[in-house]
Amino acid sequence: MNSRRIGIVGGGAAGFFAALACAETQNGAEIFILEKTAQFLSKVKISGGGRCNVTHACFDEREFATRFPRGERALIAPFRQFQARDTVAWFAARGVKLKTESDGRMFPATDSSQTIIDCLLGAARTAGVKLMLNCGVENVIKKPHGRFELTLAGNISSSPPPKEERAGMRRPLKSNPPAPTLSPPGRGWGEESVNGKIVCDRLLLATGGCRTPARGQLAISLGHTLEPPVPSLFTFHIGTPWLRELAGISMESVEASVPGAGLCERGALLVTHWGLSGPVILRLSAWGARKLHGMNYSFPLCVNWLPDLNAEQLASEFQSRRHSQPARQIVNSPVPPLPARLWEQLVLASGISREMRWSVLSRAARHRLVQQLRRTEFPVNGKSLNQDEFVTCGGVRLSEVNFKNMESRICPGLFFAGELLDIDGITGGFNFQAAWTTGWIAGRAMA
Ligand SMILES: Cc1cc2nc3c(=O)[nH]c(=O)nc-3n(C[C@H](O)[C@H](O)[C@H](O)COP(=O)(O)OP(=O)(O)OC[C@H]3O[C@@H](n4cnc5c(N)ncnc54)[C@H](O)[C@@H]3O)c2cc1C
Repeated sequence: MNSRRIGIVGGGAAGFFAALACAETQNGAEIFILEKTAQFLSKVKISGGGRCNVTHACFDEREFATRFPRGERALIAPFRQFQARDTVAWFAARGVKLKTESDGRMFPATDSSQTIIDCLLGAARTAGVKLMLNCGVENVIKKPHGRFELTLAGNISSSPPPKEERAGMRRPLKSNPPAPTLSPPGRGWGEESVNGKIVCDRLLLATGGCRTPARGQLAISLGHTLEPPVPSLFTFHIGTPWLRELAGISMESVEASVPGAGLCERGALLVTHWGLSGPVILRLSAWGARKLHGMNYSFPLCVNWLPDLNAEQLASEFQSRRHSQPARQIVNSPVPPLPARLWEQLVLASGISREMRWSVLSRAARHRLVQQLRRTEFPVNGKSLNQDEFVTCGGVRLSEVNFKNMESRICPGLFFAGELLDIDGITGGFNFQAAWTTGWIAGRAMA
């Protein structure tokens, strides 16, 4: 058998980057990507609302790593090897220009995730990577001579997949999944696969986030430990009727906190039909993924709507309004930048009547209004996955992996990359960067 046969399980961002880094480092290695569904790079396709937020315009490794609630320390050294700047250059060298939005997120200039898919698939074909769809790996055994024997689901067919499948476009079939296919039809490959088993010298597991522990089974069977998976990047359900009436309203900068969990974040907030969303909520959900799961997603959330003003500044503003606009109804005179409808609801929620004017605002009512603006408390009672991006907190324990080369410290010859690891970032392109970086390092090391 060829001594440089490299098996990559998982045809996502990390698997493709690993395959390409490997192929480009060692010409002649036999590299194959085994993908269990009928589509490569399916998450890339739907990512960033179909635009694919490829990375983030932050070019300091340490600062970049601070955006990872899990994995910050482990990722600093890998980012020194391959960081966002390298991702930009990598895609540019293959004809894909990235553009930066005002908040730092980077997208393909075409605003289409298909550009990224076409680039990765094209590069893989050019590099001679064998791309295999409908090839789920069910089981892995480490053989005494150090190689890995993979058991595939179903029977291998040596017919090449239809063109559109290879282009990563076809939706997975719901019933009767087709027999595994390979591309190109493998002289040598067929000889190496007996009864749905194939053997390789180096193995990369890049199977993505394990939302259920079963998804981490291959790693566990090779001696690894899985940090229990829980969701990250979700939005909060809040039943407060007046809040629901405000669906669609957004604020550029609020401070949101979960006092019971010691969490506090500042950023943009969006009121939805079911509660609250937006970057500040997603960040709270990421940093608090485990704690909020432990609270069964039932906890009080506090919002400071005007975090740039302290209590004294607000009180003196209201006091001055008593003199400057005494006859004006309080509900009709919002403090900028609060939208009028939100201000109205906050005034009413603080117990001030719709008719009350500034001239008659008592000291006690003024105090209640200040409190309301600085600390509106909402009872959160559930969560929804964010449609634009979500990831799994948990995965292969980081201390069991050598981050210099992404090799297992437990099972030599085994490598890890991407979301399968206990690594996850906040929204903004950080999760793909972790996949590109760990995939690139693992690919070079396997070569
Ligand atoms: C809706 C959505 C939008 C997102 N948008 C963004 C974004 O814009 N920017 C960003 O940075 N992050 C985004 N993310 C997160 C990002 O997609 C992931 O972090 C990233 O895809 C992880 O890459 P991966 O290669 O590790 O895993 P995946 O992309 O999940 O790929 C793993 C692959 O392995 C395959 N597989 C699993 N088990 C087996 C098996 N046993 N045998 C064979 N194949 C197997 C899976 O089918 C899958 O194709 C988004 C996530 C979601 C859900």
